[in-house]
Amino acid sequence: MVRTTEYYGEHSRSSGLLDSVAGAIIASAPDGIMLVDLNGTILLANETMAQISGYSAEALVGLPVEVFLPPAMHTRHHANVRSHAQHPMRRPMGRLGNLSLLRRDGISVPVDISLSQCQTDKRIATVVFVRDMTGVKRMEQQMQYQATHDSLTGLVNRWMFHQHLNLALAQSLRQRRPLALLLLDLDDFKSINDGYGHAVGDKILLEVAHRLAAVLRGADTLARLGGDEFIVLLPEILEVADATQVASKLLAALGRPALVDGNEIQLGGSIGLVVCPRDAQDAETLLRYADMAMYRAKAAGRGTFAVYSASMGAQMREKLQLQERLKLALETGGLMLHYQPQVDVLSGRIIGAEALLRWHDTELGEIAPARFIPIAEASGLILPLGEWVMRSACQQAAAWARAGTPLRVGINLSARQFRQQRLAQRLGEQLAEFGTPAELIELEITESEAMADPQQTKDLLRELCQLGVGIALDDFGTGYSSLAYLREFPITRLKIDRAFIQPIAEREADATLVRAVLALAHAMHLSVVAEGVEQTKQLDFLREHGCDCYQGWLFSKALPATQFEALLGLQLVQKV
Ligand code: C2E
Ligand code: CA
Ligand code: CA
Repeated sequence: MVRTTEYYGEHSRSSGLLDSVAGAIIASAPDGIMLVDLNGTILLANETMAQISGYSAEALVGLPVEVFLPPAMHTRHHANVRSHAQHPMRRPMGRLGNLSLLRRDGISVPVDISLSQCQTDKRIATVVFVRDMTGVKRMEQQMQYQATHDSLTGLVNRWMFHQHLNLALAQSLRQRRPLALLLLDLDDFKSINDGYGHAVGDKILLEVAHRLAAVLRGADTLARLGGDEFIVLLPEILEVADATQVASKLLAALGRPALVDGNEIQLGGSIGLVVCPRDAQDAETLLRYADMAMYRAKAAGRGTFAVYSASMGAQMREKLQLQERLKLALETGGLMLHYQPQVDVLSGRIIGAEALLRWHDTELGEIAPARFIPIAEASGLILPLGEWVMRSACQQAAAWARAGTPLRVGINLSARQFRQQRLAQRLGEQLAEFGTPAELIELEITESEAMADPQQTKDLLRELCQLGVGIALDDFGTGYSSLAYLREFPITRLKIDRAFIQPIAEREADATLVRAVLALAHAMHLSVVAEGVEQTKQLDFLREHGCDCYQGWLFSKALPATQFEALLGLQLVQKV
């Protein structure tokens, strides 16, 4: 129902049907509609206006429009109304943001308002449309929340974190107060996701978010950057030690295993810590440095934190350079395999060879595998590299067999290579391609790699074994083998690490250990290779205690294939 003043009543009487239709339209309009005189007095209000304001339509008529404003704004608004009356103009919706209307119950409602003039035969009045923006505002807020927060954990997201960081940086530099960033990456989260499924993975992330948040203070910002990467901004530290203390607390908070859907899951993370202004003063550099430090923490054995230092940058650049050059070497044939003889302890004859990678870079010179293999492993380059090693070694073993000197060739497999998909299939294809007898190939996998996930190791080794190749457990003694697993792995040989062989002639403790390994291996019908034999006394010891085979500089270093063949030839000549 539309309520009018006398003015409107007169008008309405004079226009008949048209007015009754207009009245119905006004009454049912989705926006609030008011007619206001030039003094600011409400002449007419429709039902929607009543709903928005909480007054009845009747009660509104005769009231000043200032009822919709807090008292402090009344005088000013009234002046605005007067000036509007003198210079009337149209104002469409959307022109002014953040308008609000004070409801009868004192609650403020977000609205949008348009103004226009209405000229009747006698007077001019202002037509006011009032649109309730509550729903729109709520949606806007929701959208803003979604754009700035991580939907899983409800933490600030990457974009929003950058806003916080930029503000905090400006403040830190202005006030000369240090600020710290702690970049945390969960350890082995991928295995949790793969092993228990994504639903459990999500619950873990949520649990981690709660635990981390519980350690922090109000002024700190905790954000999820994506995946299993979180970041903490500490805007109020006095010295670096404050930040390292928080890092320790965050790691301790992850120390307890999480119980998710009946599974007890071990948590852990690695943190990279960087400080402004000491390390850098802009967001991008700080984040890059935090990342470097985090990788350092991972490399240092995980579950720990590392504080950025300038030398990390130089090391990182050097690593990247090596990575680039290595890629180039792989593409342009700059890599070579050398072969170190494996010698029968009793007969002194060469019975096998271990293939070892050699890289001579035109600019950087000779680079040892201990330096470039970990870089290849971290960058994923190890897969094409390993493939190349496997091909070359299979080809070489086939060539030696054809030449009448069949020799078993050992191929080293890094962790990532070993766990890559379709390894057995690829190896099978290569054996077939070159006509290499499978028994001439022995894969070497380190004890620590094998023990990282013994169940998976067992399955992978079985698959490889079915090809007919041998499996050697490399660097034996440096990992923590469980005997139970050792028994279950289909391995053929143990290679005792150099660190145990070198001191056997001097230190009784090491001699005891090597004797024990020999006894154990023989009880399990495994043959044993001693690595790194450099002295005759060591060889004597090994002979005395029944070691089967050795390799080391005492006999020969790893040699290019042609030199290796010369050594073999010499042996053949001696035999004849
Ligand atoms: P590893 O498998 O334990 O290889 C034995 C290492 O001991 C070789 O080092 C070898 O040159 C060295 N060595 C042999 N005899 C002696 C000795 O009497 N005294 C001393 N001090 N050292 C001796 P290298 O060639 O530098 O390789 C180091 C490591 O790099 C290897 O350790 C292996 O883990 C890795 N590696 C080498 N080639 C490959 C490869 O083709 N693929 C993969 N994934 N890793 C490789
Ligand atoms: Ca090896
Ligand atoms: Ca070894």
